[in-house]
Amino acid sequence: MSKLGIFKKELELSRDGDIVYGRCGDYIVTFSEQNREVELFVDARLGRVDSGAIDELKAFVQASAAGYKLVSFSMTSTGASVVVAKKNASLLLEFSALLISQLKTLGIPGAGICSNCGQPMGSYNIVRIANHAHACDSECASRLLAGASRQQPVYVRQQGSFLGFMGALLFVLLAAAAYAYLALNSYFCAWVAVIMPIAASLGYALFGGKPCAGKGTSVLLLPLLFFSGAAFFVLLYSVYLHWIDLGYVFSLRELISLVSKNLTAPVLKSEYLYKQVAEGFVFLLIGYIFSLPQAFSKKQQPRVRELS
Ligand SMILES: [Zn+2]
Repeated sequence: MSKLGIFKKELELSRDGDIVYGRCGDYIVTFSEQNREVELFVDARLGRVDSGAIDELKAFVQASAAGYKLVSFSMTSTGASVVVAKKNASLLLEFSALLISQLKTLGIPGAGICSNCGQPMGSYNIVRIANHAHACDSECASRLLAGASRQQPVYVRQQGSFLGFMGALLFVLLAAAAYAYLALNSYFCAWVAVIMPIAASLGYALFGGKPCAGKGTSVLLLPLLFFSGAAFFVLLYSVYLHWIDLGYVFSLRELISLVSKNLTAPVLKSEYLYKQVAEGFVFLLIGYIFSLPQAFSKKQQPRVRELS
């Protein structure tokens, strides 16, 4: 189970993508992972308490820092954040209970007060800002969300998909041409296959396409299609030259149909090409390993949004 999964289960939290959040006592807490660290954020209206309570909170965290292996502690007017190394996540789980009871003891308001405007509220909405969940009244929630949609061109990512596709197509075509050229001149050509998915990804990015399902599909399908196409073309062309040499008379249609029907025939299997095609598919797989995870990386969520 991932570290976040443990927090979710132990504290009965909800998950939203890469964070888990929910109510713990009187406070909304959020756990998130970044690099090799885990962050606990407690939504609290720190902006409205006198500095005596804040000083006591700081002293409390400083006193606990060594025992709980806290890497950093920070406060804003809307909450407190504590970070530990991932391997000390279980300590953070223990510390979260302590921190929450300390906040309560110090009279620092939690889910009863809007962390945005400081007004008391009965029911609350949870708004996610970056990796922190905040409890706000519905007015503040809609104001935060409206502000976010004004500032952030969230839908920009969809643009450029077609151009990106054309870029990927062009780059893969160039790689396929290089493959065919090397193969027809009896050079070792299988390695070109490793370039194809990377070329697709690069072509897509250079022509303005952002990571999206279209990019993932282009990077997956175009190299497969063009590699198979190039390999078949090379085979066809080799047979064509061979037949011309032998003085055969044939149409292009006959050539294609005979070669397609006899792809598994022993005479073709023994062709040097087969070994290179098989190796080419291995190289293609390696290329996918480098480029597919990035191409399929999911669309970025808006920084500010409401959690159900
Ligand atoms: Zn408010």
